[in-house]
Amino acid sequence: MSLKYPVHERFYTWQGEGVHLGRAAYFIRLYGCPQACPWCDSAGTWHRDYRPDSVKLMSARELADVVQAESPEGAFVVVTGGEPILFDLAPLVDALHAIGRRVHIETSGIAPLRGDIDWVTLSPKPFGQWPEASVVARADEVKIIVHDVADIQAGLDTLTGLRDDAVIWLHPEWSKARDRDTAVLNAITEAVKANPRLRAGYQMHKLYRAD
Ligand code: SF4
Repeated sequence: MSLKYPVHERFYTWQGEGVHLGRAAYFIRLYGCPQACPWCDSAGTWHRDYRPDSVKLMSARELADVVQAESPEGAFVVVTGGEPILFDLAPLVDALHAIGRRVHIETSGIAPLRGDIDWVTLSPKPFGQWPEASVVARADEVKIIVHDVADIQAGLDTLTGLRDDAVIWLHPEWSKARDRDTAVLNAITEAVKANPRLRAGYQMHKLYRAD
């Protein structure tokens, strides 16, 4: 029996953050995450108070078929969650490569990567499980979510072994950006000014959403 992935939702839109900001992308959001970030904006993908009624089990082949039907050639696929690294993504990546799609993952890096993934966005959660060294070493970009000023250094502390060419973003946590929390926003500004390796970022897709 082929592996089935718990798909919380899937949709075709554009990438709202990071190096690939603004590019058309098909998102596959898998169900399940043990990190329990207090400010999680995707709690529907893991929290016990949310009943996973919408979760649909789909095989790699079924997912590749819907990606092909629902997005044009050239749109890459972002596998996110939840925490997608919990699953063996190798069959899914192979199926998506077979239809000519590049595959990106967004992960907190808490398990070894499986599958020949084309782009790895690591978002470490230093108050939860730290990322595995192998995922840090593989990351193409890092997204540190800044809810408190101390989150900047705490996130950087998880990145031993990161490649020199990996991009490191500092994103204000969503509510801090919405409320224009000057402590957080100024801390990001000062951190970037002090360390040119860092970039100030934002979740641009939030501007386009009604909620
Ligand atoms: Fe939510 Fe991501 Fe934290 Fe999991 S790692 S609880 S999905 S923000």
